Amino acid sequence: MITGASAGIGAATAVALAAHGFDLLLGARRLDALEALAEDIRAHSPIKVAVSQLDVTDPASVSDFASEVEVADVLVNNAGLALGRDRIESLDEGDVRTMWETNVEGLIRVTRAFLPGMRGRATGHIVNVGSIAGFETYAGGGGYTASKHAVRAITRTLRIELLGTPIRVTEVSPGLVETEFSIVRFAGDRDRASQVYEGIDPLTAEDVADAIAWAVTRPPHVNIDEIVLKPVAQANSTAIARDGAPLK
Ligand code: NAP
Repeated sequence: MITGASAGIGAATAVALAAHGFDLLLGARRLDALEALAEDIRAHSPIKVAVSQLDVTDPASVSDFASEVEVADVLVNNAGLALGRDRIESLDEGDVRTMWETNVEGLIRVTRAFLPGMRGRATGHIVNVGSIAGFETYAGGGGYTASKHAVRAITRTLRIELLGTPIRVTEVSPGLVETEFSIVRFAGDRDRASQVYEGIDPLTAEDVADAIAWAVTRPPHVNIDEIVLKPVAQANSTAIARDGAPLK
């Protein structure tokens, strides 16, 4: 089960897990993109791929999604977004709400939908896609960093609450990954989005998918708690060596 599989890290994770032989249920709001991805995967792999329109902010949509499958071995809570780069004093409340409803409430809602089945079958792995924004803060990132700090708190809470069960919980937290993420963040402004990755070799969605696939293919007694991965040219959210230039 992968949420936010219509693009970026979620789509790459679908391809990576298919290569490991996992059957897939893919969810996102853009059904056409999911269907195109599923067709592509089916052309290269014998696994089963189902797609379902999913809006993690909508409880009915999440329960429809969860009802598509009886068995959930791995849940990748990947759906998420950042909106804007405004400082707290000028944050748009609607943007903050959407980030919170998607990144935090959505992740909890989807997890709640699949956890009882995992408990019942005494197996399962929940992978939450966090961010270095769950470890750090930066000016103009208040809404997003708050939501990703919450994702990290939820992941760590689940590790405690699921102790004594075989269910594994992992957080994968990337730095700069070139996907549609910045285009969404800057409301479709592609020039502004491309500046985020200017002068560096950013992570690709495949790099992050590779980390997720590695975490979920460890032996059952191994829990990978956290993976933090960044481009070599990035030390933290704001310390970025563009064009190889040393930081001043
Ligand atoms: P992306 O290319 O924009 O993909 C985001 C995915 O989330 C899309 O498939 C989108 O699909 C889905 N999504 C958004 N809102 C949704 C909703 N309400 N319900 C269901 N799906 C929803 O960005 P990405 O970089 O792959 O982001 C994936 C995750 O990585 C996010 O959690 C993000 O915070 C995290 N992350 C990204 C970066 C980065 O630099 N790119 C760094 C750290 C962490 P639809 O629009 O079709 O619904």
